[in-house]
Amino acid sequence: MGQQENNEEINLPFEKLSLLFGGGVGAFGRNLSLFIFNNFRLWIDAGVGFPHQQHPGLEKTIPSMALINKFAPDVIILTHGHEDHIGAVTFLAPFLKKGTPVYLTSFTLELLKVRFREKSIDINYFNIHIVSDLLKIEAGPFQVQFFDIPHSIPQSLALGITIDKLNIKMFYTGDFRLPEEPGNKKYKFADFGPVDFLFCDSTGAMSKGINTSEKKIKENLESVIKNWPGRVFFTTFSSQIERIQHLYEVAKHLHRPLGILGKSLRTHIQAAYNAEKFSVAASDIFNPSPSNQKSIWIVAGCQGESNSALYRMANESNFKFTVSSQDMLIYSASIIPGNSEPVFDILNKLIKKGVYIYGPDDAHLTMHTSGHGKSADVLKMIDIMKPKTLCPIHGDPLHFQSMSDLSRSVTGLNCTILNENYIYTLNDKQISKLNEFTDSAQYYEAGSVHNDYSLYVHRNNMATDGVCNVVIDQKKMQLIEIQYLAVIDENRLNKSKHDLKKEIERHIEKIKIPRVNEKKLIQKITRLNVYYLQKKPFVNLQWINLD
Ligand SMILES: [Zn+2]
Ligand SMILES: [Zn+2]
Repeated sequence: MGQQENNEEINLPFEKLSLLFGGGVGAFGRNLSLFIFNNFRLWIDAGVGFPHQQHPGLEKTIPSMALINKFAPDVIILTHGHEDHIGAVTFLAPFLKKGTPVYLTSFTLELLKVRFREKSIDINYFNIHIVSDLLKIEAGPFQVQFFDIPHSIPQSLALGITIDKLNIKMFYTGDFRLPEEPGNKKYKFADFGPVDFLFCDSTGAMSKGINTSEKKIKENLESVIKNWPGRVFFTTFSSQIERIQHLYEVAKHLHRPLGILGKSLRTHIQAAYNAEKFSVAASDIFNPSPSNQKSIWIVAGCQGESNSALYRMANESNFKFTVSSQDMLIYSASIIPGNSEPVFDILNKLIKKGVYIYGPDDAHLTMHTSGHGKSADVLKMIDIMKPKTLCPIHGDPLHFQSMSDLSRSVTGLNCTILNENYIYTLNDKQISKLNEFTDSAQYYEAGSVHNDYSLYVHRNNMATDGVCNVVIDQKKMQLIEIQYLAVIDENRLNKSKHDLKKEIERHIEKIKIPRVNEKKLIQKITRLNVYYLQKKPFVNLQWINLD
């Protein structure tokens, strides 16, 4: 809690521009950037982070309460509707000022409305402003101009931010790609440059080359589907509306009926229709008969999410189709790091059932293009904005280093690497560290938010080494029983159990007051377990009263 107190003492220089993060820099996900000047706080995005394998049971991470308590926003801008940019808004809303202005596009608002409805929160808790390309607003001392920028979800925004008082100009790309286009396309945001600072999406910087356009993917889709005589299943991210629209057009063109499998797909299609970004309402897409061999089905669950339609299709649980060699699945997505195992499990199961899989990456016709600009896109952005200072955002240290190497080797410009544990100050030339800010995330699972990271350490420990339950009579300070659960095979355990018990008894007897030295006792028992069993089970002390 010491760190929390330190955070309480932070006073930011009123006359300087400060910058800090609730996530998104140095760890993927949980995007939240916070600019502060003259005590006015401008938040950009409020997203969730995603769990890694070492966090069993964790569903998502959320920006910290310390950040909210100390730096509640005067204005929030949401760049686009992906989960890692808006997913935390509903969790944070009850702690934010009623009537806080929120600027966003109409499609992002449609998605936010769905979340607010699910949590029974009134969207009018915030003061909502719908924005569009080239609109300029005054947000306290900040002048912000919105620019449409291509990404893998409709209506994504980049931000041109000016602070007249400080003579500072910044461009914040949000998530973006600049795919191959015929001719030399001039982007409207090009007129905003040159800038002092460029905050640039680094997620795709590690990949060579340039992104394929959605138009090309559509052509590829049509040529593959045209030649397949049986049913076609197609999976992609639910937010990938442009591609889903293209598939809808391909199906129409080939006179093949289209169906949707998955709630998240319906939600996104309906939201896109409401924002005039999809040509037909989800409710008007009727599912054809499963036995129709000409049918095309969009299936949710491209990341292997358990219980998704794709998962059920592979595991034959509660799924209305029996799949066979008449079926093809087009995998039109990238596999997010950490999801390879469940995705490959699904694809392998489907192949065993005879389904032909097109994709993920190795097919001769590309079926997916990333929402994040590759190296050529990043270099194009640097060339357009000509920044004095370049800061990678939206990535892990590895993404940041890749962008830094790329920029240095091609343009001679070094990157300034940012970290979510610091507060920075900016003048018109550079960024410097002002103070430490420990921003430990919050954790969400099973319907509620908590702060106890040790839960995941213990769960990992139990998963690999089992549990050692030690029952102690706290009046007599005597060992009653020691039980091992899923630790090691019975034979080996029985050989050591007698000696182990004796040693543990000795240590318990040494303790005069029950529970006072609990932590030390757990450490001792852990060391004994390692010595006798070569295992480090989670030690659970159970104090009981035997009268
Ligand atoms: Zn995104
Ligand atoms: Zn993102």
